[in-house]
Amino acid sequence: MLIENYDLEVTTPPCDPGVERFNAIARLVVDISQVLPYLNATWKGAIYDHSAHILTWRMGGRAVTVQPYEIAVSRLEDRQEATQVIERLVGMINRTWERRDEIEPNYQKRERLKALDVYKLLPGTNCKACGQPTCFVFANKLTAGEVEVEQCTPLFTETYQEKREQLLALIQAAA
Ligand code: SF4
Repeated sequence: MLIENYDLEVTTPPCDPGVERFNAIARLVVDISQVLPYLNATWKGAIYDHSAHILTWRMGGRAVTVQPYEIAVSRLEDRQEATQVIERLVGMINRTWERRDEIEPNYQKRERLKALDVYKLLPGTNCKACGQPTCFVFANKLTAGEVEVEQCTPLFTETYQEKREQLLALIQAAA
């Protein structure tokens, strides 16, 4: 087993007083940098920087960062959820490490989807059909994984075929 134990710290962000969200950090006693290329190969949408030994990933609405001696998660509801999410991540990392002989490690850095690039490929009419007040809000939520591109129904009409194909290619490249 790669991670056998860890110390868990749960905090509220000092810059966000009054916001009932928690951050959790599991401090490890082992260097887990060797597992990062295997996580990059299996965690869909992960952003990995091999030279810096850092991998970021979105799990639901939470941001996960994995580094050699640390697993950090933000936007947690409470301490109980923090404990559960960290336990789940440790289990996922350990299982990935145990299966490493079956996985082709991926050392490549994926490009992060940028809201402005997404916005430029949306219809730009602010029609609200997606349930968002503007196309820019939709673009931001799409890059955060909070909405699906299919929710912009005008984009899937013939008028926007070219933009749609470019946007789908952009999303695929970042997946
Ligand atoms: S449905 Fe598409 S075009 Fe309309 S506001 Fe949403 S993102 Fe913009």
